[in-house]
Amino acid sequence: MKFLKETILSQGNVLSDTILKVDSFLNHQIDPVLMMEIGKEFKQRFENKKINKILTIEASGIAIGLAVAHAIGVPLVFAKKKKPSTMESMLSTKVHSFTKNIDYDICISREFLNKNDQVLIVDDFLAMGNAAEGLCTLCEEAGADISGIGIVIEKGFQSGRDILEKRGIQVESLAILDRMTEGEIKFK
Ligand code: 5GP
Repeated sequence: MKFLKETILSQGNVLSDTILKVDSFLNHQIDPVLMMEIGKEFKQRFENKKINKILTIEASGIAIGLAVAHAIGVPLVFAKKKKPSTMESMLSTKVHSFTKNIDYDICISREFLNKNDQVLIVDDFLAMGNAAEGLCTLCEEAGADISGIGIVIEKGFQSGRDILEKRGIQVESLAILDRMTEGEIKFK
């Protein structure tokens, strides 16, 4: 996706060989025009799939998820990182964070994810695949079908895609980074 790649090159900050900071358009301040384009692009890439729900993780996935949900015309559900005291029947699993190097629990109310759902999972980054795997686990627990996984920025030099494709899931990434050595971003 040309517009996204140009934005990554002009505004992305390479923090190390493995971490890209995109706070000015995706992770803190959000570019609404770019988000809507991302929504349309994912709609097109998963046109042949049955989708009745978009699934992501708070917080960075929500803006992306909303854009995709609006483009496809289905609801968005996001996994929470803290169990709300008001949530009674829930699905939950543990996820390891690549950027923070900690484990955390994610949960979703059974009310919003069940065996009738055909889910498109979306997220901002794909690194080792733990966040997306966690969302797949919640879908499996719920008996929901996974229609695909849509990622905005994939770090192609990490192993996330292999893990997800081994599950037989279609993975679509809008920008795939080949490397980020010496502060320079190269796409695949
Ligand atoms: P994974 O679970 O695939 O290892 O990592 C994906 C999650 O970690 C994403 O939800 C994202 O929030 C975070 N993440 C992984 N790599 C990066 C990165 O290079 N930059 C930023 N900003 N977040 C990342």
